[in-house]
Amino acid sequence: MDKLIPVTQPFLPPLEAFLPYLEQIWESKQVTNGGPFHTQLEAALCDYLGVEYLSLFSNGTLALITALQAMKVTGEVITTPFSFVATTHALHWNGIRPVFADIDPVSLNLDPQKIEAAITPQTTAILPVHVYGNPCEVEAIERIADIYGLRVLYDAAHAFGVRKNGQSVLNFGDMSVLSFHGTKIFNTFEGGAIICRDAKTKRHIDHLKNFGFADEVTVVRPGINAKMNEVQSAFGMLQLQYVDQIALARAQIADRYRSAFRGVEGLLMHEVPAHSTRNNSYFPVRITDDFPVTRDELYDRLRTASILARRYFYPLISEFPSYRGLPSAGAANLPIATEISRQILCLPIYPALDIQSQQRVIDVVLAASGVAQASAALTQTAEFPPVEAV
Ligand SMILES: *Cc1c(COP(=O)(O)O)cnc(C)c1O
Repeated sequence: MDKLIPVTQPFLPPLEAFLPYLEQIWESKQVTNGGPFHTQLEAALCDYLGVEYLSLFSNGTLALITALQAMKVTGEVITTPFSFVATTHALHWNGIRPVFADIDPVSLNLDPQKIEAAITPQTTAILPVHVYGNPCEVEAIERIADIYGLRVLYDAAHAFGVRKNGQSVLNFGDMSVLSFHGTKIFNTFEGGAIICRDAKTKRHIDHLKNFGFADEVTVVRPGINAKMNEVQSAFGMLQLQYVDQIALARAQIADRYRSAFRGVEGLLMHEVPAHSTRNNSYFPVRITDDFPVTRDELYDRLRTASILARRYFYPLISEFPSYRGLPSAGAANLPIATEISRQILCLPIYPALDIQSQQRVIDVVLAASGVAQASAALTQTAEFPPVEAV
């Protein structure tokens, strides 16, 4: 039986490298509530990402829920069905009615024209997702938000480190939310962050994530407990030393997939718009009717070969029982998202995916495509550089 190849795997630095961080925590006895590692990680992430105000959270979902609270969003919010369920769940947990709009077939992100068509007098905000780290049409969305007086919250869970025209994509909209879950490219096991525009808003968010406490005796609003603890924050500081190597390893894997699959009929790869960087957080392909087997058949063949590709995002959020009764959830309203959801397959990509394992993935896909021989040349590419401690 071949070694199991997951779709993703968290990057874990050598355990010895983490021990000095743990010793500091044991020494100080400060395990949470905005300790030194929490403060350091907020500053270090601002610096690395090129943003001004960032507030750490215990996970991305609580960050989304809290961001909506901080913006006092109510009524209806326009969002994408082509995402992870947490995007829409965050609206539900705020008593907001999700309104699904269709996606663009190239970017796979919300189509600005469809956003505009979905606006009603009840609409208060837009919740787009930079799917697979591919930036949304942020300028067009900003224009719509300005015209109709709407707030914009980006679910940027996939967009760590992504830049557009040299500018962090996290600097668009009123707020952006990151996830540092173990499956994401930068992880603190569980974790997340809200990026906002000014110091006053950050202060408010910091109160909200700590029960609403502004000081020892003042509770400004009914807050939640969504603080990141010191062990997670320390791990983030360590992880940050490896992010450039992680990015490089992912880029090499993505390049190898791209050259292996170039020209394969019926297999479409995801293109990133000009002037945007690619963080290779996922490697999605679309298996269309021109491919010899269906997407699900290919998914099954990969599983049989112990390769766990994932159908992100299938089903659509709008197809889950909690949301499918909404007027905007029907397939007729979401034809492009519906079609793409049935074609999409995310292939394994993570720094520890070695060249032999990647070749196994490529061989199964090419065999299904009927061009199995083409893979031979690929084994002659350069040695996979190991990711080592900085
Ligand atoms: C991972 C993810 C989330 C949720 O983040 P958690 O940190 O796991 O709570 C939200 N939205 C999208 C698009 C995600 O991929």
